[in-house]
Amino acid sequence: MRFSGFKVFKEAVTGHKGWKPLWRNPEPKKSYDIIIVGGGGHGLATAYHLAATYGLKNIAVLEKSWLGSGNIGRNTTIIRSNYMLPGNQPFYEFSMKLWESQEQDLNFNSMVSQRSIINLCHTDAQRDAYRRRGNAMHLSGAGGTLLSQDDLREMVPFLNFDNARFPIKGGLMQKRAGTARHDGVAWGYARAADMRGVDLIQNCEVTGFRIEDGKMLGVETSRGYIGAKKVGVAVAGSSSRVMAMAGMRLPIESHVLQAFVSEGLKPTIPGVITFGAGHFYVSQSDKGGLVFGGDIDGYNSYAQRGNLPVVEDVVEGGMALMPMIGRARLLRSWGGIMDMSMDGSPIIDKTHIDGLYLNAGWCYGGFKATPASGYCFAHLLATDTPHETATAYRLDRFARGYVIDEKGVGAQPNLH
Ligand SMILES: Cc1cc2nc3c(=O)[nH]c(=O)nc-3n(C[C@H](O)[C@H](O)[C@H](O)COP(=O)(O)OP(=O)(O)OC[C@H]3O[C@@H](n4cnc5c(N)ncnc54)[C@H](O)[C@@H]3O)c2cc1C
Repeated sequence: MRFSGFKVFKEAVTGHKGWKPLWRNPEPKKSYDIIIVGGGGHGLATAYHLAATYGLKNIAVLEKSWLGSGNIGRNTTIIRSNYMLPGNQPFYEFSMKLWESQEQDLNFNSMVSQRSIINLCHTDAQRDAYRRRGNAMHLSGAGGTLLSQDDLREMVPFLNFDNARFPIKGGLMQKRAGTARHDGVAWGYARAADMRGVDLIQNCEVTGFRIEDGKMLGVETSRGYIGAKKVGVAVAGSSSRVMAMAGMRLPIESHVLQAFVSEGLKPTIPGVITFGAGHFYVSQSDKGGLVFGGDIDGYNSYAQRGNLPVVEDVVEGGMALMPMIGRARLLRSWGGIMDMSMDGSPIIDKTHIDGLYLNAGWCYGGFKATPASGYCFAHLLATDTPHETATAYRLDRFARGYVIDEKGVGAQPNLH
């Protein structure tokens, strides 16, 4: 079933009887050529590209809960490619380009909205750093515009420009950045993968790996053993737990990140805005809610809920940046588990076990990376070579010292 304006019109005048479920609900087969563990954004995008881009068949995605129940449906929906380091910038720009054609490629409205991002600067040194980052962005075609305080006063007059502690001096804008409807992204990839024959198996937790003589044979699951020639693990915040079942210890910690949404307001915030003197980022959803977040909770946890100190910290950041937010009522808050790597950058690599591949360590940047992560992981699974934009995301970079520390804070996962 293809979606189109004509289809919507036809259904509207014939009582909406022709809509079908977006994907099948198949029973697992005895074995597959490729199994992807994890039905989040990255796992589903990988399955889609294996089938659509690399023409492979006999693929399954195993998800312990329902599709999109993890971080793909919990994030603050920001997409951008305003990175600086050579290991990151081409990859995130590749992802941005894939976002730009995603809805047409998937024939699904995931509400990709290139409404821009502005990173605010509050000191002269920070402005210099943004100028440097903007130049790096131009090298890979990501674009980037340095804004003066006067520019900002015109664009976002509600900000607290003359805050005595954190005066706003300017900002770096990426116009092509913006937001996308997070769960719509999961549904779009799921439907497109299912249409190409991928089996999406929900309520199927992987509980172990069957490995013999260093070779992957298949996975033990809550629905029985399933054989596989290759297994790709894309379980985000559960990476350490799942890879421990294969005897691997990862350079990753798991932390809670919270997000918040206010009651619906009239259009107020034109794009995404980030506070440069604290950790606070905000955008406005199409329903009108202010969607915002800040730091992770700061201690390791697998509980998908947060605690109050970070709530206070985030709203303090919001109040310092735009005091008018104090008049809005908070509607909801929630948490997700993020795998924070030692340098803040991801891992897309083969492991020492023949047939076992890993996609992990997405930290704060995992949603915006979804299209490229799926593409590059599929490339690795299909060809056994890293995609050209993901050559730096090797697991052994921590042993070799080739870390990609975008924030420059060292081996401190809680700060990345
Ligand atoms: C509150 C919050 C806000 C965020 N905001 C942003 C943002 O604005 N922009 C951005 O770029 N990133 C953001 N992120 C990060 C981003 O959401 C994640 O990095 C990214 O979604 C992770 O990849 P995923 O979608 O595949 O993860 P998930 O959706 O978590 O998918 C992993 C899946 O694996 C499944 N799984 C786990 N263990 C097993 C098992 N044993 N067997 C089978 N299945 C298993 C889980 O159930 C889950 O569905 C945010 C994250 C959070 C929590």
